[in-house]
Amino acid sequence: MGRIRLVGMAGKVPALPESFAPSPDSVFSDQFGFFSLDSNVPGLSKVILDNLNMKDFSEYRAALEGRGKVGFRSHKEMFQKMEETFKFCACCSKLPRNLPDPSLLRLCAKCLNVYYCSKECQKKDWSLHKKFCKKLRVVAIDRLVDWLLHTGDLPFPTETWTHPAKAVRCWDDWLSMQGDLTARMELILSGKNMTDLWTNACRPRPEEVELRESVWRVCSEFLSRPLTLGLGIQMFLLDPYSRPLTIHLVGAGHNETLGARTTDLDELSRMFPGHQGLEVVMVGPEVVKGPIMRPPLRAFGPRGRVYISAYKGLYHEFWEELVEKGEAARPDLVVGFHPGFHASQGLGEGWLPTLLLLRDYCIPSVFTMYNDGELKYSVQILMELEMDIKGTGPNPFSSQKPEQVQSSPNKEPSYCNAFYLNFQGLLEDKLEEED
Ligand SMILES: [Zn+2]
Ligand SMILES: [Zn+2]
Repeated sequence: MGRIRLVGMAGKVPALPESFAPSPDSVFSDQFGFFSLDSNVPGLSKVILDNLNMKDFSEYRAALEGRGKVGFRSHKEMFQKMEETFKFCACCSKLPRNLPDPSLLRLCAKCLNVYYCSKECQKKDWSLHKKFCKKLRVVAIDRLVDWLLHTGDLPFPTETWTHPAKAVRCWDDWLSMQGDLTARMELILSGKNMTDLWTNACRPRPEEVELRESVWRVCSEFLSRPLTLGLGIQMFLLDPYSRPLTIHLVGAGHNETLGARTTDLDELSRMFPGHQGLEVVMVGPEVVKGPIMRPPLRAFGPRGRVYISAYKGLYHEFWEELVEKGEAARPDLVVGFHPGFHASQGLGEGWLPTLLLLRDYCIPSVFTMYNDGELKYSVQILMELEMDIKGTGPNPFSSQKPEQVQSSPNKEPSYCNAFYLNFQGLLEDKLEEED
């Protein structure tokens, strides 16, 4: 079936054998994802691996790195297996195989997202679930519509900005420059892949109005990445019209690179029409091979265009190997989407050297977070490192697509790039102390 993204199944939080415990020096965030799955629903990581026909995490990583195959015989099988990974009782966390009769597991008829092992469990859970049921319905539709990003139906084509970037402050401003979206939406809604999707998915096709909203949310997640990079350019008053700019996207993983196309960040060229050239280098140990896996530029990207390249490895290794030797341009801006400083390993091997490097070379940096809690924790870490934090807050170009915690659905969903923080160099009073 060629390249697939493991929609939902492993898009964000992938799995492990039950004996697994993450080592403190792991740099793979998906390992921790698998670990946290099992802490909520014991055995869920195994279910995911089974549905991918894999025996352990190393096979999973190998597949992501193109050294093994993830194959499904048909789209139907793929969507079915994806649905399997959501089958556990939302109340008592039991997996089907731990029930006397697995066929008793029933979907909530309202959200078509969570399952219950019995009427009792469903009743008991309702006071909590009713707060999230509506949102979870949306989440379940979006994770299927997400598939259309990989067929190329999404995102819908967008227009060159008619206002200067600084005048576009939120999604409504952005939408106002897009003109009438009806024809573009109709094309997607009536498309072959949309039909194919609902023929093969384990649920009926939603109403057109629900689908149209879902298409927008899925596109907003995709567009949130270039728009957040553009926001970073503006926060640090970098001027893409006066000279070419180089941006390093650190901690890039499969969210940004699996199935990535060289045109994925073209919205930046529509945002700054006629710019002098923008290069984005995606760097991270979880970078997945593909068309963007090409060497970074030594100097400048082509005028008026966005040039994406990628490096698989830790950022400080990239720096030593390529930047120091002049084989990759120094960054004007460094951005990281959801670095997960809050994860159980804290800063571990992965982030500490990178953060110290960014601080000591005084590089303008922007990081995003899924939620407020993650933001607070990240600020705390950066303060301990005596970073000069320039600003924090909600990102006006946050993704509009809610994400559930797969193994714990009755929680407030989070949104990609929902919050940001930016910093540059060392706090001033610390500099004076050193003088
Ligand atoms: Zn139950
Ligand atoms: Zn429900």
